Amino acid sequence: MKIIAGNWKMNGSRSALESMIHDLESVDTENKVILCVPFTMLGVKSDRVATGSQDVSAHTHGAFTGEVSAAMVADTGAKYAIVGHSERRAYHNETNDIVRAKATQALANGITPIICVGETMDEKQAGKTMEIIESGVRESIPTDASSDIIIAYEPRWAIGAGLTPTDAEIEEAHTLIANILADMGLAGTPVLYGASVKGSNAAQIMSIPNVDGVLVGGASLKSDDFIPIITSVK
Ligand code: PEP
Repeated sequence: MKIIAGNWKMNGSRSALESMIHDLESVDTENKVILCVPFTMLGVKSDRVATGSQDVSAHTHGAFTGEVSAAMVADTGAKYAIVGHSERRAYHNETNDIVRAKATQALANGITPIICVGETMDEKQAGKTMEIIESGVRESIPTDASSDIIIAYEPRWAIGAGLTPTDAEIEEAHTLIANILADMGLAGTPVLYGASVKGSNAAQIMSIPNVDGVLVGGASLKSDDFIPIITSVK
């Protein structure tokens, strides 16, 4: 069983989500399918597809205009929240400390955080990929986290760019993450790969050791693109 998570970013509509869920409900798969959608679309019910948000506030409640708490996300019936996505880190200056605070809020409200880590192109070119992954994993996971978290390795230079690392690079990153998680007492935590996944490369990527599924951006918006990813692996 693999985890196939979609990230709609700031795209879509409630009717588009209902239509996607309708299409996904007839897909014959044992894989776990999650759709992380804008806050306004949460609350759409499905027995087959779990929903999640793309962020949660680092605060519990109160005077934080425009923010949405993990308790509010849980109140919609959503079970997951992406935290620390590359675009949040880039455009909202989210650090590992902020991401950890958000993951803590998610866990406190019964939401499984999908914690994203990954290197920028500058960091990759400076030979810092493994260092960035290690600090991202160690510093973004709450210290008292149980195994109810998901990690997504997303090389930031490859997101939305149609680029993917080599299989060897993905394996090296995922093996490092699996070893760090074991060292943190979190062996068995699922680790997803994300960045430019599509129907034509999904099966190959998910055959790489320690890749437990994928986080899909652009190709999760249309059923014709997303369903082949879901059915590419048993
Ligand atoms: C993402 O946004 O998490 C992502 C992986 O995007 P894309 O698949 O479009 O590269």
